[in-house]
Amino acid sequence: MSKKYSNSSWNGTSTRSDLLLKRSLAAVWHPCTQMKQHEWVPLVPVARGEGCWLYDFDGRRYLDAISSWWVNLFGHCNPRINAALRAQLERLEHVLLAGFSHEPVVELSERLARATGGALGHCFYASDGASAVEIALKMSFHYWRNCDRPGKTRFVSLAGSYHGETLGALAVTDVRLFKDTYAPLTMASSQVTSPDWRLAERGESARDYAARCAEALERHLERHHEETAALIVEPLVQGATGMAMHDPEYLRRARAICDRFEVHLIADEIMVGFGRTGTFFAHEQAGIAPDFLCLSKGLTGGYLPLSVVMAREAVYRAFYDDDVTRGFLHSHSYTGNALACRAALATLDIFDEDRVLEANRAKSARLTAAARALAQHPRVKHFRNTGMIWAFEVDTGDVLFARKFFARALERELLLRPLGDTVYFMPPYVIGEEEIELLASRTTQLLDAC
Ligand SMILES: *Cc1c(COP(=O)(O)O)cnc(C)c1O
Repeated sequence: MSKKYSNSSWNGTSTRSDLLLKRSLAAVWHPCTQMKQHEWVPLVPVARGEGCWLYDFDGRRYLDAISSWWVNLFGHCNPRINAALRAQLERLEHVLLAGFSHEPVVELSERLARATGGALGHCFYASDGASAVEIALKMSFHYWRNCDRPGKTRFVSLAGSYHGETLGALAVTDVRLFKDTYAPLTMASSQVTSPDWRLAERGESARDYAARCAEALERHLERHHEETAALIVEPLVQGATGMAMHDPEYLRRARAICDRFEVHLIADEIMVGFGRTGTFFAHEQAGIAPDFLCLSKGLTGGYLPLSVVMAREAVYRAFYDDDVTRGFLHSHSYTGNALACRAALATLDIFDEDRVLEANRAKSARLTAAARALAQHPRVKHFRNTGMIWAFEVDTGDVLFARKFFARALERELLLRPLGDTVYFMPPYVIGEEEIELLASRTTQLLDAC
């Protein structure tokens, strides 16, 4: 591993991309990265994107099987979203949202509210997922304060949960790699057992295990409801911890338990929203509505940073007052950015026009069928699927597995970025039949090479 990687040795790249990568390593501090590892892990130059594919400067292509960190829905450079953005650009790029309004933000808020069946009728905007989580936490706390329950200051999340990395969001995140270093800076929060179905006892169904975990939540709230403002969950799939999946029964029970103990339920659907789990919102599968719904990632189809927290009428009412300080004074400069809202509207149009949820059901079945050999591979454990997400663990003792697998996958035109020993697929919804076959067969080959 001591051999220094130089860009020109990476499959013989051109001077143009060579130069770009050198400048990038010198000037750009890349996210989620120990920069020194780029001495031997290649940085990948991207010249352009089209559909599911990313292209470099030298004719190589990569199938974006993780939707560029779970954001892309309808492919790169989607002609319909591009056209909508071009038209918006001619009218209005951005205006402050305090004291002002514009068509894209109004239309988007109305359509999102309709998508919740009217349960969550008030949209508060920010620019990224972590900020949406911050907002939901602050709103929940402030709601209880406005209701003369100032003692409700604590939050509960699931073991292994990921809710973003700003300090408030990190406080309810439970992924050690991201949290341990900053633990002294974060407020205390409680974690309850994750309903992750891999943890079920032998012979116990995912549903029974979910019910058992809900009992653990109930016991926690029995003791702590007086000081608890909200429970925050990633419905159906806990992403960053390694695509842990659970039965909707957990959400159904959690909803009832939260109601009984007067604790808010915050659904963090930043990853699972917009059809990822098979329904438009993941919580629909439990037949419930949360008190707060956090959305981002797929919201703009993967085009522009935008997030939203949707709240119930009762929450909104508690802030509506003559007293300024009872209002929610939180703000971000780019709140409700017109271009981002337009991209979101174009994304919603595609859902309607192409009957995407229906088409995805067929696609999901096809990918599962194509991955049959993969699922039965001797090194594969816990092959699982929810909607347009697939994941499995690879039997490996190699701590460098994820990095090696990533590099080998690139050589086979696949962009895959395992989380530890968990390999997952989360492709854009425009993935075609040939690409599905290619993804499944090359991943199987990769297991024999890593
Ligand atoms: C990605 C993610 C976030 C954070 O969103 P950012 O835009 O990266 O800040 C929060 N919650 C979940 C479930 C996520 O997947």
